[in-house]
Amino acid sequence: MSNVPEIYGSMVFNEHIMKQRLPKNTYKQLMKTLHEGEPLDLEVANVVAHAMKEWAIEKGATHYTHWFQPLTGITSEKHDGFVDPQPDGTAIMSFSGKELIQGEPDASSFPSGGLRATFEARGYTAWDPTSYAFIKDEVLCIPTAFCSYTGEALDEKTPLLRSMKAIDEQANRVLACFGEPHQRVTTTVGAEQEYFLISEEQYEKRTDLILTGRTLFGYSPCKGQELEEHYFGAIRPTVNEFMKELDDELWALGVSAKTKHNEVAPAQHELAPIFADANRAIDENLLTMEKMRLLASHHGLVCLQHEKPFEGINGSGKHNNWSISAGSKNLLDPGENPQENLRFLVMLACVVQAIDDYQELLRMTVASAGNDHRLGANEAPPAIVSIFLGDELDSIVAALISGKEYDGAAKTMMDLGVDVLPNFMKDSTDRNRTSPFAFTGNKFEFRMPGSAMNLSDANTVLNTAMAKSLKEFADAMEGLEGEEFEKAAFAYVKQTLIDHQRIIFNGDGYSAEWEEEAARRGLANNKNTADALPCFVSPKSIALFEEFGVLSETEVRSRYEVKLEKYCKLINIEARVMRRMLRRQYLPAISAYAAKIADHIVSVKSAMPSLSTTTQEEHLAIIQKGLDATKAAYDALAAKHEAIADIEDAQEAANAYAHELIPLMEAARAEVDALEILVPTAEWPVPSYNKTLFYV
Ligand code: ADP
Ligand code: MG
Repeated sequence: MSNVPEIYGSMVFNEHIMKQRLPKNTYKQLMKTLHEGEPLDLEVANVVAHAMKEWAIEKGATHYTHWFQPLTGITSEKHDGFVDPQPDGTAIMSFSGKELIQGEPDASSFPSGGLRATFEARGYTAWDPTSYAFIKDEVLCIPTAFCSYTGEALDEKTPLLRSMKAIDEQANRVLACFGEPHQRVTTTVGAEQEYFLISEEQYEKRTDLILTGRTLFGYSPCKGQELEEHYFGAIRPTVNEFMKELDDELWALGVSAKTKHNEVAPAQHELAPIFADANRAIDENLLTMEKMRLLASHHGLVCLQHEKPFEGINGSGKHNNWSISAGSKNLLDPGENPQENLRFLVMLACVVQAIDDYQELLRMTVASAGNDHRLGANEAPPAIVSIFLGDELDSIVAALISGKEYDGAAKTMMDLGVDVLPNFMKDSTDRNRTSPFAFTGNKFEFRMPGSAMNLSDANTVLNTAMAKSLKEFADAMEGLEGEEFEKAAFAYVKQTLIDHQRIIFNGDGYSAEWEEEAARRGLANNKNTADALPCFVSPKSIALFEEFGVLSETEVRSRYEVKLEKYCKLINIEARVMRRMLRRQYLPAISAYAAKIADHIVSVKSAMPSLSTTTQEEHLAIIQKGLDATKAAYDALAAKHEAIADIEDAQEAANAYAHELIPLMEAARAEVDALEILVPTAEWPVPSYNKTLFYV
């Protein structure tokens, strides 16, 4: 058993270590940067760098790296040694403030959406002191932002930090209306990560899993998740060993892994951390994902983070629990007195407005080839964004909108009396798992993100859209005081809720009726990535990002290009793998099996001509027909795949992949899957779902 308090954060240069190791003055200055966002000067950086290096070397580190998040979505690192050879043939270990603050990775191979071509070929990384440095595999990792020399963001972190600044500014204006002092406002995130674990042995036998992260073929297992026995079930020993090692490693890295359990699908699991500020939470989530992938191999397992590794089995998401905090106050907590209640209602109205106004943009942030299999597939929220408030809050909102008396606990609150809003039970039972954006007592849970995603985009949009609503409120209220302010604020809340009530939906998000109802309400329903991405470059989105200095138009356009390209590349790889598997595995195997039956018929006939071989002949006819159908599906797929390769415009190519190629891929799969249950296991070229998902 590990000694948790002892290992927790032991590999992190956190505030506790900073306090121990930095001169008082340096510590103070660094805290100002950390908590108040003050810029850091080189002198301070030099002192910090020295202390960091000494600490890292004591912990066995030999290298350092600027750890960053290029637009690939995953993290990048290039290790540089501390080693500094001296003229006398010896070496010392050195690390300067300059090396801490700024790095220069050779960035030419990271996606930039044309930014580097237009501007400067090289990019640089800049230290983000608001996320702690840590040691991983003898390397001191320094979280950094990644920009071009002209300042264009080339990464996921920079816009997120900019959006956090925007919300800090605008929320402070709102808090000032309530007479509150200036304080650091930040968004908080708790990312619940779902994943699959399967055995390495089966994984290695499937080219599709290895190259695309998901199975492109495979008949449903005899037993799926219908018995609901896996969810929260006892964790099998191999998996438990993996989870223990994962916890230990994450704790040492200061990642607050808190909850682990089996998920709904067979072989599916979840890890939930304790929330942190959005920037750290996302760094921690990326570290968690990396550790999951790497540590699984110690246990003969492979960790699949793809959104839909197995057709017909629930896919994996990543719930993004999101709130806004000012100091130790959670601004999405209804609070305990009328003043706090009013502030909460203002925040709520601003969230409702933000989500309604930017629903399409928010949906865009969770669009990916993998997540297209989840959203709207009756296991995850639909592709339509809506907000679930829960019965209690919903009736308060309804009463506010209609102007009628609400006769619950919030009754007198309606006329700003002394009573208070009910304290929403954190574990209230009316959870609506079908809602993409659900209020859960003191935070919202955004359930659309896919398991493989970097959550930066989603949070950048949430924060920026929220900053916009807050700004509008502050613009309307500044200058008003006391009762006048309260009255105006209350009226503002009411009007905002009236204007945006279409986004509130408490029913079953999986139902077909909701799709129709949502269409009547004018809510967007972009079903796949190709359809969802264009919203990113709409004038409305660009205006939002520019207004808050989160992304310039050039940056938006380059990111849109990167997303399109990534989508096209992924589908292209899937089509290639599919074709290869069809040609080299399935078609030959099916054909060989047909020949085997034919031989069998011949040998039975020659042994005993009087015997009937009708059964074998019928079977052979079915297999041969299936073989022909598979070949025809292969030809159709190949022809379309090659035709799309000639489309130059990335959006057009994406459209063709989504609307023309994917249906052909599905058709080819259907032919193969239908044969899988007719061909003996020994003749089938890849392991079945049965074997892959139900292992011990
Ligand atoms: P639930 O039962 O709603 O899943 P939990 O308390 O288990 O509630 O929280 C789920 C996730 O939400 C956890 O990762 C948790 O840390 C996170 N969370 C809780 N409060 C907040 C908050 N104020 N801001 C962001 N995330 C939060
Ligand atoms: Mg949850």
